[in-house]
Amino acid sequence: MDPVVVISGGGIIGNYISSRLKLNSIQSIVVEKELRNIEYKHNIRTLTLNSFSKKLLDELDIKIKYAEIKKMRVFDGEGSGKINFSSDQIQEDALSYVVFFNDLQKKLQEIENERTVYETYIKDIKENDSENFCEVLLSNNKLLNAMVVAGCDGRNSNVAKIAKLDEIKQNYDQTAITFTANAKLEDNHTAIQIFSDKGIFAIMPCPAEKNGPTHTIVWSIDDEILDKYEANQFLKDYLGYFEKKLGTKITIHSEVLSFKLSSHSFKNYVAGRKVLIGDAAHSIHPLAGQGINLGFADADAFCEEIIAEYERTANVNHKKVLKRYEVRRKTFNELMLRSMQIFVEIFKSENLYMRLLRNIGLSSVNETSFLKRFFINHASGKNKI
Ligand SMILES: Cc1cc2nc3c(=O)[nH]c(=O)nc-3n(C[C@H](O)[C@H](O)[C@H](O)COP(=O)(O)OP(=O)(O)OC[C@H]3O[C@@H](n4cnc5c(N)ncnc54)[C@H](O)[C@@H]3O)c2cc1C
Repeated sequence: MDPVVVISGGGIIGNYISSRLKLNSIQSIVVEKELRNIEYKHNIRTLTLNSFSKKLLDELDIKIKYAEIKKMRVFDGEGSGKINFSSDQIQEDALSYVVFFNDLQKKLQEIENERTVYETYIKDIKENDSENFCEVLLSNNKLLNAMVVAGCDGRNSNVAKIAKLDEIKQNYDQTAITFTANAKLEDNHTAIQIFSDKGIFAIMPCPAEKNGPTHTIVWSIDDEILDKYEANQFLKDYLGYFEKKLGTKITIHSEVLSFKLSSHSFKNYVAGRKVLIGDAAHSIHPLAGQGINLGFADADAFCEEIIAEYERTANVNHKKVLKRYEVRRKTFNELMLRSMQIFVEIFKSENLYMRLLRNIGLSSVNETSFLKRFFINHASGKNKI
């Protein structure tokens, strides 16, 4: 039977969408270009889920290990600016939840295995206005008819290329390095983020594992600093600064992974029956840990629109459904992207007035309860993003 939705990309967002549609009796097929049994190396990379993303996973009964963040401290390493958040301030159990990327990816892939074709990609999509579907040609030369093609294939989305959508790219000239570590912070539920000329350094609790590390670190550094160093020497020279600021020894537990940082977005998310969702549509700086949460909020809006329409008409009026999805998500995602760009610029600046402004800014928000509540509610996902 032909699927209602063909999903390009069996990452977290593509597999989540497929599972949610299945729960609502809507057929989908996931087309994933990588191997079925990808070798998952040790857990290193983590994701910070807000409570809304966690709720979506709970509704699918996804059970993986989480570390709860109940308190968050953000401060300027070179100044006096600081801001503290706590889950008590929004009457929630936690501000956010740290999961290992591999745990979540693997769990969702297991659930979607039977609906996934691996080592395959979409070669072409043919649309004809007089038909109620489009023709999707796969790299294994199979042809599928689908009402919608969802591009969940990450940065460099194949669906975006086939749809010839206009991309806007920005390079941050920064690299993120990430690793797990052992450290002794005030408790097991506090995350700390330090802004400094040695980069933006975030240390968060790790999901508990036997003989596992206590913390995960995501550290964004200007490329002009990194270019001067050999990787190990950089860690030796710079980690000490943060150890001093945090008052703890940080012992690296895992391999150190690095990612070039850039952001991208599209003028439109939709072209005919083709639509972009999650990192395929946008990517942002990891400093606010919101990448996957924007993806989940996209996926939720897309599923809500398709499910409501399909339940009513056993059909998908793609023009109506996809337009609604785009209207619900694009403006907010763009706002988030721009805010992150401004944030990165302010914290990169060497200008004395800028530094003063960011210190006053952070501390003022800290002391203004309604502003603080606004930020916590958004970051934690209590206000649907
Ligand atoms: C260092 C770093 C730290 C991060 N930390 C956080 C964090 O703390 N919190 C957070 O919310 N986010 C974080 N992010 C962002 C987060 O990882 C992404 O937003 C998320 O993984 C996007 O999921 P996705 O499913 O949309 O895309 P992806 O994870 O990119 O998945 C895309 C899938 O599509 C497949 N694919 C690609 N091309 C094709 C093709 N042509 N055909 C078929 N399949 C294809 C890929 O193999 C993959 O399986 C971080 C990112 C980085 C780089």
